[in-house]
Amino acid sequence: MRNLINYFIYGVSLSGLLFTNIVNAYTPKAEKVTENVYAFIGPLGQRSEENQGLNNNLGFVITKEGVILIDSGASYLGAQSIENAIAEVTDMPVKWVINTGSQDHRWLGNDYFSSRGAEIIAMQKTAATQLQHAEEQMQRMEGFLNNRFKGTHAKPANRLLSDQSARISLGGEELELHYTDAHYPGDVWVWLPKQSVVFTGDLVYVDRIFSVLPWSSVVNGQKAFHELVKLNPDFIVPGHGSVSDIAKARRDCGDYYDFLVDKIGAAAQEMESMQDVMKRYDDLPAFKHLENYGSLHRTNMNRTYLEFEQL
Ligand SMILES: [Zn+2]
Repeated sequence: MRNLINYFIYGVSLSGLLFTNIVNAYTPKAEKVTENVYAFIGPLGQRSEENQGLNNNLGFVITKEGVILIDSGASYLGAQSIENAIAEVTDMPVKWVINTGSQDHRWLGNDYFSSRGAEIIAMQKTAATQLQHAEEQMQRMEGFLNNRFKGTHAKPANRLLSDQSARISLGGEELELHYTDAHYPGDVWVWLPKQSVVFTGDLVYVDRIFSVLPWSSVVNGQKAFHELVKLNPDFIVPGHGSVSDIAKARRDCGDYYDFLVDKIGAAAQEMESMQDVMKRYDDLPAFKHLENYGSLHRTNMNRTYLEFEQL
């Protein structure tokens, strides 16, 4: 049996090498959250040719008039495999794409869905950040995906919603977009009040620790997380990690925002030395189980410190 499996794996990858020079790709599979609401839960590791840069969560809502896709993936080919995965659940076409953010794998599939007739929708600030990061993200993603990046063009959302939050509906389903401004400026969550589901975008990570980027704001993240809890959602589809309830999201993410703000932020405002602070909080049993803790926790503390220094 083992030989047979080995033969099969070897045979498949060899034929991949011979004919396409593309490694076998991860294919997204829809996971039902609740009636008419599905999530694609991406693998937790780094972007790669194998996972098509789909190492984040996406989702979709089936309405009477078509499918609303939440985030479009990292490439043209990746978007195509998302479309195929949706087709396994419904015959309805993707009518709307909503971007919850401007990180590469949230929007670089926009162009594909636009060519298939979908409207690409986002809040104004989300689209502005997409444009700002487009060139750098295209280069970086091409480095990760190689041949699997072929055909990808950066297309920021072009049906733009203004104000601090927006309510839109299609085919009897209502969605509310609300700025979180945590991971990237202009990030939003998408709330489905009827189904009590929230797609948090990159505000919430579970199973793996979130990363604070140079342009992230943990102050905004903490504030938004506390607002999210007030929605009292039955289902949280995080930006990364498994579908969760409030307790798990708080344990893996909300508590970490609180830690960064309450401990690191406070120490920065007291003008304690960054070295001392980082040493004191290097080892945190509450979060150590989270994937990427070893590689991200110190940088996260460092960037939080800098954010508070500038307040
Ligand atoms: Zn992400």
